[in-house]
Amino acid sequence: MRKIAFFDTKAYDKEWFNKLNKDYEFIFIEGKLNPTTAQLAKGCEVICGFVNDDIGKETIDVLYGLGVRAIVLRCAGYNNVDFKEAYGKINIMRVPAYSPHAVAEHAMALLLTLNRKIHKAYNRTRDFNFSLSGLIGMDLHGKTVGIIGTGKIGKIFINICKGFGMKVIAYDLFPDEKEDIDYVDLDTLFRKSDIISLHCPLTKETRHILSFEAFGKMKDGVYIINTSRGGLIESGALLHALTNKKVAGAGLDVYEEEGEFFFEDFSNIIIDDDVLSLLVSKPNVIITSHQGFFTREALENIAKVTLENIDEYFSGGKLTNEICYQCEEKLNNKNCRKEKKERCF
Ligand code: NAD
Repeated sequence: MRKIAFFDTKAYDKEWFNKLNKDYEFIFIEGKLNPTTAQLAKGCEVICGFVNDDIGKETIDVLYGLGVRAIVLRCAGYNNVDFKEAYGKINIMRVPAYSPHAVAEHAMALLLTLNRKIHKAYNRTRDFNFSLSGLIGMDLHGKTVGIIGTGKIGKIFINICKGFGMKVIAYDLFPDEKEDIDYVDLDTLFRKSDIISLHCPLTKETRHILSFEAFGKMKDGVYIINTSRGGLIESGALLHALTNKKVAGAGLDVYEEEGEFFFEDFSNIIIDDDVLSLLVSKPNVIITSHQGFFTREALENIAKVTLENIDEYFSGGKLTNEICYQCEEKLNNKNCRKEKKERCF
């Protein structure tokens, strides 16, 4: 039986993948993938990685040397992969959409919790403190929400916001003209939004899209929601904007340096990330540890599509969910092999 090594796994990964597996021997490894742990992939032609695995040059070299020829990511984002290094050696596949609803709904959960101080009320009433002081919020109805990235998740979040009677404006590098979306430039979005929610991928262009300069352009009292990738926000700039009250609250499902911490229990350890400690300590910041995707529906879809990706790889045919460094440019790239229904290499 073909062996597939899964990195950075938890009990819920085993549960869903084992439930749907018929054809493979799965090796579930708790540690994250990096140049050292990559050795554990010996004997596997295909391995499965996750959001905070290190799939950089060194890891790819080790994996290739061991005979690994495909990496299936059980996630949508892929900013942790060195695609140029992998090209010609290891095919990379991902799960482009497993439940955009899960992430969009989580973004709204963060906004509602922050705005109506549910996190504080929950703790208060458990202590029989029924006072309301300090819990005042605002009506979301009529407020302007600025969406950066109007892909699958962004569009669902837009509809949720419209359901709340909010005004929606959006910025996207590739506006979807088929949709009834009020696109504006980034500066206008910063100036007009009461709430800004990030739904674009982390790329060279979007890294620190919310920088010191960007926060400077925003309305006083803006709310920031980030369920996309931590690197979209310059963490120091956010801290500064929270301290000087430019930002009224931040709901963060992702954090720039999350790789070392998220998905793990550090409750008995003093962590050495002062920015994260300061963010956690603020009453108007809610951090969840990359749990936007975490619904039963999403986990089932992730397992199903990942297994289909593995099957396709071994079938020798085209790889529906393959991605390479050229795919990002495919809109302008007439020679994209994937468009011609071939593997990227
Ligand atoms: P998608 O590809 O459907 O949409 C992304 C959108 O961003 C596209 O419309 C694209 O044109 C736009 N975009 C690309 N570059 C841009 C730029 N420079 N400026 C503005 N817009 C740009 O992706 P999706 O499925 O909606 O997911 C969005 C992001 O959500 C993913 O990239 C991933 O990082 C994140 N995500 C997080 C979780 C979680 O658990 N928190 C789960 C899944 C995805």
